[in-house]
Amino acid sequence: MKKHVKPFTYLPKIEAVKEGKITQTIRPEKGISEGDSILFHGYRCKCGAEDWEPLDDFYMKLRCKACGKRMGYATRKWSWRKRVTVIEVVKATAYNWGLEFQDGSKKLWRELDDLAKKDGIDPPKGEMLAEVLKSVYDLYRGKKIEIIRWK
Ligand SMILES: [Zn+2]
Repeated sequence: MKKHVKPFTYLPKIEAVKEGKITQTIRPEKGISEGDSILFHGYRCKCGAEDWEPLDDFYMKLRCKACGKRMGYATRKWSWRKRVTVIEVVKATAYNWGLEFQDGSKKLWRELDDLAKKDGIDPPKGEMLAEVLKSVYDLYRGKKIEIIRWK
């Protein structure tokens, strides 16, 4: 059992993650296994505020609502945290057309609305999930990803 630490910055999802309504995240492959522990956390601004507003459609660039500073290494500190236990990891490879899963099955992004919904993507469409993954993680062109679920 390994322990991991992962930040959450995708604003539409954070409250649902904290409340336990969303129990999935998709990340670049880091070798996470069932039974591992993940400590998720958010960020607050060094000015003390925890409210961020997006500067782009994918919540990649955020600005502090209180002081206006862009979120960056120098302007953020940990805020909320939540420790979870991983119950399922699905490995896949991301392409511009969709996902190829570890069992060899393939799905187009437009067939992945359910995955997007489980991931808290707004709006819950596979094609929007693709845009978010591309924007946040540059997950295209054959990058390995992990679909991580917890309880
Ligand atoms: Zn601030």
